[in-house]
Amino acid sequence: MDVSFILDALNDKQREAVAAPLQNTLILAGAGSGKTRVLVHRIAWLMHAYEVSPFSIMAVTFTNKAAKEMQARIEQLVGLPPQGMWVGTFHSLAHRLLRAHWRDAGLKQNFQIMDSDDQLRLIKRIMREQNIDETRWPPKQVCWFINAQKDEGRRAAHVPPSNDPFSQGMHQLYYTYEEVCERTGVLDFGELLLRAHELLLNTPALLRHYQQRFVHVLVDEFQDTNTIQYAWLRLLVGDQGSITAVGDDDQSIYGWRGAKIENIQHFNKHFHDVSTIRLEQNYRSTGHILKAANGLIKNNDDRLGKELWTDSGEGEPISLYAGFNEQDEARFIISIIKKWRDDGTSLRDMAILYRSNAQSRVIEECLVREQIAYRIYGGHRFYDRLEIKNALAYARLGIDVNDDSAMERVINIPPRGIGERSIGTIRELARDQGCSMWQAAMEIVRQELLPARATNAIKAFLELIQGMQLTIQTDNLSLGDIFEQLIKEAGLIPYHEKEKGEKGAARVENLKELVNAASGFSWTQEDAEEEEYSSPMMAFLDQAVLDAGEAQADEYQDAIQLMTLHSAKGLEFPLVFLTGVEENLFPSRMSFEEPGRLEEERRLCYVGITRAMEKLYITYAESRRLHGSDSFNSPSRFINEIPPECLEEVRLRSQVSRPVSTQRPTFERPITRAAQLQGYQVPETNVSMGDRVNHPIFGEGLVVNYEGQGPQARVQVNFDDQGTKWLVLAFAKLEVLS
Ligand code: ATP
Ligand code: MG
Repeated sequence: MDVSFILDALNDKQREAVAAPLQNTLILAGAGSGKTRVLVHRIAWLMHAYEVSPFSIMAVTFTNKAAKEMQARIEQLVGLPPQGMWVGTFHSLAHRLLRAHWRDAGLKQNFQIMDSDDQLRLIKRIMREQNIDETRWPPKQVCWFINAQKDEGRRAAHVPPSNDPFSQGMHQLYYTYEEVCERTGVLDFGELLLRAHELLLNTPALLRHYQQRFVHVLVDEFQDTNTIQYAWLRLLVGDQGSITAVGDDDQSIYGWRGAKIENIQHFNKHFHDVSTIRLEQNYRSTGHILKAANGLIKNNDDRLGKELWTDSGEGEPISLYAGFNEQDEARFIISIIKKWRDDGTSLRDMAILYRSNAQSRVIEECLVREQIAYRIYGGHRFYDRLEIKNALAYARLGIDVNDDSAMERVINIPPRGIGERSIGTIRELARDQGCSMWQAAMEIVRQELLPARATNAIKAFLELIQGMQLTIQTDNLSLGDIFEQLIKEAGLIPYHEKEKGEKGAARVENLKELVNAASGFSWTQEDAEEEEYSSPMMAFLDQAVLDAGEAQADEYQDAIQLMTLHSAKGLEFPLVFLTGVEENLFPSRMSFEEPGRLEEERRLCYVGITRAMEKLYITYAESRRLHGSDSFNSPSRFINEIPPECLEEVRLRSQVSRPVSTQRPTFERPITRAAQLQGYQVPETNVSMGDRVNHPIFGEGLVVNYEGQGPQARVQVNFDDQGTKWLVLAFAKLEVLS
């Protein structure tokens, strides 16, 4: 069979990687050099050149979006859906193993997954029950502690003892948390990985089976694997299998969540006969964008070291825009988007990236005002929404009445007269008897342990859920019908309709959307069983937790993409806006305190820059209202680390950028780029671009920009100690120093 078509659209190095012998291979390469492309082509190569069955292949990526993309690309290349191949994220693959071997893993058959929100709620509940002081052991920190231990592969019993009371408290909470999860059969995200690792480790026959089955393991974004993921891979690959890992040390951005860059550095030690291949030609971005990325990342130490190049030409310089505030920044972005849209670019080819979710709100509002469609990844995602989680909790209870976290969630939503006191009694009894809250509630009703009104309210709730159990088990109801019925029985629609204003209406809309999503869920009973689920409902609930965010907007609608820098990893867009590039925000303030974190922020910036194919805008705001307070940050140090010749400053007034060569410099001291670019006298004042000035409060600085005329004239001064600020000239009392 002619397999050359697989190698056709690749360069020599890529070809070498794709057709590498069947041994352990590490492909180490910078952004946009075709790593993911190589991985997909290698899968096709294995299937065609070596006639490897798809059953023997496992491919691991980092996000659900990337996994779907990979599946689609494989299908396109080999012409068939790769049936039997396991393609997914670490979490989804671990989950699949646990569903298939729940008994060996020591789980209940219908175990439930809880997301980070549920996890925090559970921890708070445990702390309340045990009267533990939340100010001394903040629940979020407890959560973080437990997750970090799990990422390192440590159960409570494996955590080294400590003498200090704070750590001892954390440790004790981990023990209790473990007990409660075990008893109620819920798993957090970290547990999926840990449990899947233990499953293979403790069940040699199973390990052998999977080692023999998955002879070829391929991993994308390898730089972000954590200890437990790495251990799991090593176990699975064993001595017989082979692993192909692709990664970029400069894009390691999950250190704060336990990812270990060392996993790349030690790859040669842990896997035998490794051949390492480097790719350096970038196919994604223009010369200016690449040069900016190279210049920035050079400031990090301890790199494996590589320089990207492209032969696609320089392209346009990166545009830098300074907004007065976050509103101005958003308005500017929208104006550019409209321009590109009117010139014929699809909205889906544009992305707005930001450091933290909270930044998206202002941009979203602006987009809504301008009626521009957008889709948001991360942040407040569909399945994360309160009303959706409530509806899902009813379904979870209907499947397993002993699901305490679901019960906690909805026992009094909508309010049905089961107050905190009654819930407290249920909790206490459950704890004393070592049973679930459901069983405790049954006991309270049977023995009438609470006043008649409370008892009756609990009884009504128990009956409601029993009714839902019947609904869920009804044979000829579709999943959509079941959800519609559950939402109705629970009274969720009238409950939210009573809420004031837009919010309630949006919640009702969302609940209807959930029914739609369930109706569109096409799994049959046979599909479910093939994937080790007892019913389509179980599969749907799990996907809602694992897949959060990806079912929300209509996938086919043309929409701008909004996401955090973290979720942009691996993706590419012709037009990219990197927003909020300010000190304290990006790099984030937190990164100043912990060693190594600043470098991680810089890698994150590198990831952001290298998402852009044709054009990159970097924006920042001189004042920003965030989390309810105003801050005045100077432009990020990362901007200064970009070689000046790749950047040009944009001015809103004309909304065009001026290349240096067409400027008409009127003074001799163009000290900053902006001064160099603008080169104008500020009218009717004695302050000129490039002047050093003194301000009575902010001290000395350099004039770098101006806006408006006459009494409205404003100048932008880059103060030595205070960063840049816009000042109204008429009031600013600036003294010219030079
Ligand atoms: P990242 O580090 O961001 O994940 P990557 O190394 O995985 O990037 P890819 O996404 O695989 O890079 O490739 C970047 C872009 O370059 C894609 O659009 C890809 O199709 C294109 N590309 C890669 N190699 C070639 C090639 N040999 N010929 C043409 N286009 C290519
Ligand atoms: Mg990639």
